[in-house]
Amino acid sequence: MKITIVGTGYVGLVTGACLAELGNDVFCLDLDQRKIDLLNDGGIPIHEPGLGDVVARNRAAGRMTFSTDVAASVAHGDIQFIAVGTPPDEDGSADLQYVLAAARNIGRHMTGFKVIVDKSTVPVGTADKVSAAVQGELSQRASEALFSVVSNPEFLKEGAAVEDFMRPDRIVIGCDATPAGEQARQLMKKLYAPFNRHHERTFWMDVRSAEFTKYAANAMLATRISFMNELANLADHVGVDIEAVRQGIGSDPRIGYSFLYAGCGYGGSCFPKDVQALERTAREYGQDLLILRAVEAVNNHQKHVLGTKIVRRFGEDLSGRRFAIWGLAFKPNTDDMREASSRVLINELLQRGASVAVFDPVAMPEARRALALDFAGDAAAVSRIHFCDSPNDALKDADALAIVTEWKAFRSPDFGLLKTLLKAPVIFDGRNLFEPEAMATAGFEYHGIGRSILT
Ligand code: NAD
Repeated sequence: MKITIVGTGYVGLVTGACLAELGNDVFCLDLDQRKIDLLNDGGIPIHEPGLGDVVARNRAAGRMTFSTDVAASVAHGDIQFIAVGTPPDEDGSADLQYVLAAARNIGRHMTGFKVIVDKSTVPVGTADKVSAAVQGELSQRASEALFSVVSNPEFLKEGAAVEDFMRPDRIVIGCDATPAGEQARQLMKKLYAPFNRHHERTFWMDVRSAEFTKYAANAMLATRISFMNELANLADHVGVDIEAVRQGIGSDPRIGYSFLYAGCGYGGSCFPKDVQALERTAREYGQDLLILRAVEAVNNHQKHVLGTKIVRRFGEDLSGRRFAIWGLAFKPNTDDMREASSRVLINELLQRGASVAVFDPVAMPEARRALALDFAGDAAAVSRIHFCDSPNDALKDADALAIVTEWKAFRSPDFGLLKTLLKAPVIFDGRNLFEPEAMATAGFEYHGIGRSILT
């Protein structure tokens, strides 16, 4: 089938590559010329395991085209996926400017029937706005070309995106009940048929319910994390090991083990903005989502938990101190720094006069960009960020180590060496990678999240 993907970011590029892998002829459009040039030169603009191979294979087979040519992209695909960003607006709502610009481009150039798929995470009612944007362009040029807007939110996880896309838990598709909607449904059914060979994974629903499902999923996951973080903070006060509690409750199949890990807060391009956007949608309808307000507040607080522990240990004034930070990306296996907890910690430490020696296995270039933005105009602060070539390099002469991202590479360090490199054997572990008892035996002062068992 002929497919166009608008936007070659984390979602667009993975969607395009995976659909090409299934034999489709995929045209990837982006307005960012540098991204397109890089892709045409055989590069990959993001870090995503396995993605480079899939793209290279399908480009070589002639099933993937990268271009900034809007007219050609609209002419190409019978199905036009909109996979552009929906960042938070100042008031927390999803900023739809990129989605609507993409919709107008489609309306401006389309001649025959098109299925327009909202792949981006967009609030309830966006499909109507996309329809109106397309229709507005068609009306201007007195065209009566038919189209249908479908909601097909994406559930892939960064760091496992290719695997998630190729083996989805579910595919959610919302179509409307018009004849054009039915035509769209048939095309979507054909496109996704390879995923449903063993068993049906597609949930067909109306458009608004599909739009809502994505927010409900992310809000639920964010809620589980904030719930555990809040309990972990209490656990620290009452002498309870939150890890034991996690296992104790996770064994109940109604609860399950996933997404119950206490830590230093969730980040990324989805949970923070999607929780906010859902709250904002509720307010537009005169509703108040009390639970989600708390989820967001707990998370904002949790991003300071390592900073607070460090201040409790070393005092308010950290000038002259140096802290090693392992992990900068918002989670492992990605280079995404959006809303990463590391940024909050680094800010806090620098504001208090400390210097930081940072290392991440893949996010160093992104971190340089993100931190340059965070501290734009504050050359003194920037001069106190030392970007290191290895985890051990970061440890040299540091007063303590803070772990922010649970990369596998950090899970089994040489503790003996660690002790010799650090000024003192002090670890603040924002992801509970180690066992407190074992750390104590190894001679470390260990501060986990919710693991301060009274002895
Ligand atoms: P991204 O910022 O990585 O990529 C968006 C791309 O769209 C950019 O390359 C940008 O240049 C391009 N773009 C913007 N306007 C355009 C236009 N008019 N025409 C062509 N290209 C245009 O974003 P992302 O992380 O891939 O997220 C995209 C959407 O998917 C968001 O709504 C997000 O919430 C959702 N989503 C993201 C994830 C994730 O893990 N990143 C998972 C599920 C859903």
